[in-house]
Amino acid sequence: MATPFLSIENIVKKFGENTVIHGVDLAFDKGEFISLLGPSGCGKTTILRMIAGFERPTTGRIVVDGKDITDLNPNQRQIGMVFQAYALFPNMNVADNVAFGLKVAGVGKEERQSRVAEMLKLIGLSGFDKRFPFELSGGQQQRVALARALAPRPRMLLLDEPLSALDAKIRVSLRQEIRAIQRDLGITTVFVTHDQEEALSISDRIVVLNAGHVEQVGAPFEIYNRPQTKFVAQFVGTLNTIEATVTDAAARRVSIDGQSAVLASLPPDIATNSAISLTLRPEAVTLGKPNGQDIELEGTVSEVHFLGSVIRLRVDLGKNSVSLDTFNDKHTPPPALNERVKVAINSDDILLLN
Ligand code: ATP
Repeated sequence: MATPFLSIENIVKKFGENTVIHGVDLAFDKGEFISLLGPSGCGKTTILRMIAGFERPTTGRIVVDGKDITDLNPNQRQIGMVFQAYALFPNMNVADNVAFGLKVAGVGKEERQSRVAEMLKLIGLSGFDKRFPFELSGGQQQRVALARALAPRPRMLLLDEPLSALDAKIRVSLRQEIRAIQRDLGITTVFVTHDQEEALSISDRIVVLNAGHVEQVGAPFEIYNRPQTKFVAQFVGTLNTIEATVTDAAARRVSIDGQSAVLASLPPDIATNSAISLTLRPEAVTLGKPNGQDIELEGTVSEVHFLGSVIRLRVDLGKNSVSLDTFNDKHTPPPALNERVKVAINSDDILLLN
């Protein structure tokens, strides 16, 4: 395997007596776009700040391009960073904001001017040189913050929830823009977010964190389709959980709210009459008779959410209920509330998680 560009080796971080990062190991390739994803307080920002050099790990090392940078100051690391909320200098115009890091680095005036022009072109704000931050929208301010971070040609880019203060539409368009610029430049990027949809859409790989531990690292497709823990399955995407009883372990037969079903597999050590949780994504459930699926259940529609291209339904099976999506077909209205329906599940799609 090639040497990673960035590696985080057995990092522990304590604040006083409180350990917030518990021995994290991560390795990223050059040019990768990585998201650190997890709920509030799981340690995403702390990891990012250690990479940037604003926090020192209690133990462990950070290695970039084969060199240990754990003891370097932030300004020796050649890292660009963009924060959550508008961290532009309010008394400087756009050009001076973008040129700031270059000036600190002693880059001459002519070179600064050409680099500013290049950066403003890159972020689609050519001609905005003389504007002040208060004359820009939130999305434009974050683009300028990105230009400022990239102007000194850092070898890595760190983004700490840079989109979270923006409204939904701009958030989606700006994240696509950031990803396109990152691909163009081939710059290794670590992006912090608590928004699973954002992480799934933008990343080469996602690191799912929970309480200072790594739960799983993988491409979006893997994280979503093959979650290795219940935490990952629940945090990323919607998850149905069905509580069932094993009625015949040898025959893999279970009872779901009094309805019988045979599963493709059961955990090897499970006994007849024990309880089992079955977890599955909404897309593993379809409306209507089995069509290649092997489990058929009957229930009552309890929720109908029209989302545009799809309609999300909740179907009560008894004590359990499942969410499922049907494609919007303009010729066929969706089932009504309280309608009795059949749902089908492919038992291969049931995740048996610890
Ligand atoms: P959020 O999404 O809310 O920003 P996060 O995943 O980025 O959360 P961190 O900010 O890394 O989480 O915080 C991780 C834990 O470390 C939290 O329990 C937090 O209270 C604690 N923590 C962070 N910085 C400090 C500090 N300077 N002193 C003491 N505790 C801290």
